[in-house]
Amino acid sequence: MKTNTNDPSALDPGVFARYQQLMPDWQAFCHTIEQPLPTTFWRNPFRASHQELMNFFAQYDLKPQVYSFSPLAYQLPANLPISRLPAWQAGWFHVQEMVSMLAAPLLAPQAGQQVLDLCAAPGGKTAMLACLMQQQGLLLANDLSIDRIKALRHVIGRLGMSNVLCTQSDARYFQAPEQSFDAILADVPCSCEGTVRRNPKVRFAQPPRDKIQASQQIILAKAIELLKPGGRLLYSTCTLAPEENEAVVSQALSQHDNLSLVPIALEGIHTRPGLLHWQQQGFHPSMALSARLYPQDNNSGGFYLALMEKAA
Ligand code: SAM
Repeated sequence: MKTNTNDPSALDPGVFARYQQLMPDWQAFCHTIEQPLPTTFWRNPFRASHQELMNFFAQYDLKPQVYSFSPLAYQLPANLPISRLPAWQAGWFHVQEMVSMLAAPLLAPQAGQQVLDLCAAPGGKTAMLACLMQQQGLLLANDLSIDRIKALRHVIGRLGMSNVLCTQSDARYFQAPEQSFDAILADVPCSCEGTVRRNPKVRFAQPPRDKIQASQQIILAKAIELLKPGGRLLYSTCTLAPEENEAVVSQALSQHDNLSLVPIALEGIHTRPGLLHWQQQGFHPSMALSARLYPQDNNSGGFYLALMEKAA
């Protein structure tokens, strides 16, 4: 409950209170999650060049800034309703939170590869993966929810991505031969704490952490099974909960000697190392190579990224 909106320390942090010990800049965290998100989007290079996009926004006296981590990713300082503009309808760009735009450049799929997006809907990351593949090769976009797959199809259709095949199945039991994919994104269902800036209710939710974690562990195990030797796998969540992040990845690393974490390098983006322990639990010694994204560091939502590679 808010008692004094001028003093961030007076706000009730709800579910976030347990993370205070992780953040020396706790007050900056509390302040940032009260602010609206900036407008962020990525450009579809198959529909518009940088200059065409800039000319389009100039009509509205807007000058988007390109992020350093990808020439396709842009931000506008204020929260602006740019979806539904004609260029959006024409598939020139896709509005997406900045943290969500990090997944595709990090996984960096190549043209002609076999790529799997296990929990894909509504498809913003899928479409960006397809772009980076130059729409060449096969991108399987899977999700459990048929309604969300409809939204995914809409996104893929508006952006005109031609190498995406949608499937509806439970990712835990995804049917494909072992070692089928060069790159896999496991953007797993989670408690979504990091979305608090657009979904304030998560602050006072009580997520069933054990149940969520169990599902995440099985999805990640399936992703590891489906990954080719030499392939890359990105595990991501939009939560700060160590139970759904480091604990899940740490367990997988301990069970698979042929799997290792790849350091995360995103130009211009401030990340903090994954945790080596939480409460009474110690994690795999390499977990610091995974990345936590806190809202106050990049004026974004909260996120977690663990990039893995299977030995060739
Ligand atoms: N990657 C998506 C994007 O960028 O648009 C967001 C994915 S969201 C974090 C998690 C997704 O997992 C939801 O669409 C949900 O329907 C799906 N999901 C939940 N349980 C699942 C399961 N057992 N198998 C496959 N998908 C599942």
